[in-house]
Amino acid sequence: MPRESLPARRRRAAQILAELERHYPDAATELNHRNPFQLLIATILSAQATDVSVNAATPALFARYPDAAALAQSMPAEVAPYIQRIGLYRSKAKNIVATARQLVARHGGEVPDDFAALLALPGVGRKTANVVLANAFGRPAIAVDTHVGRLARRLGFSQHHHPDKVELELAALFPRERWIFVHHALILHGRRVCLARKPNCAGCALAPWCPSREG
Ligand code: SF4
Repeated sequence: MPRESLPARRRRAAQILAELERHYPDAATELNHRNPFQLLIATILSAQATDVSVNAATPALFARYPDAAALAQSMPAEVAPYIQRIGLYRSKAKNIVATARQLVARHGGEVPDDFAALLALPGVGRKTANVVLANAFGRPAIAVDTHVGRLARRLGFSQHHHPDKVELELAALFPRERWIFVHHALILHGRRVCLARKPNCAGCALAPWCPSREG
């Protein structure tokens, strides 16, 4: 079957955006944080882990290591016990210490408000860099995690599995000033309704515009 035209996808995207705005008006990151440093570290820790598990660990972690300078002086083995309930905690302990050291060495201990500089940090890929830019600095960005990628494919907005390609396709469909919202709203919809294994199409507000709806 030929793919829907870009204008037709954009029209559907506008209707879906309106529906997401109705259902998730306050969509925002569910990672607890008080500043860009905490958000960066929490986002690195959240890879292949739940926000709940990260939020359970970060209060004690940030009490002990309140800023990049403090974390930079530690060793990964000292940090690991604070995050051991989070998946892949050993490699994440290495990454967050290495990231803190680079923040101190290259950015005066601050988180850079710059995509390329963020991407150069250990453990930081496009998704993490976009999350930080969007939530810490209010920059338009669409971070593609597992939920956003799944929703983009089910909604017929992308046929790709590579997050970078999904990001570009979503960015072409939604207004730039709504990118941050779209990212958060799709995550919430993926967590609450369009579940990975069993999407609740019967209870889905997006069903009238979704080519993957069942039933
Ligand atoms: S209709 Fe079904 S597949 Fe489409 S977004 Fe809703 S829950 Fe997901």
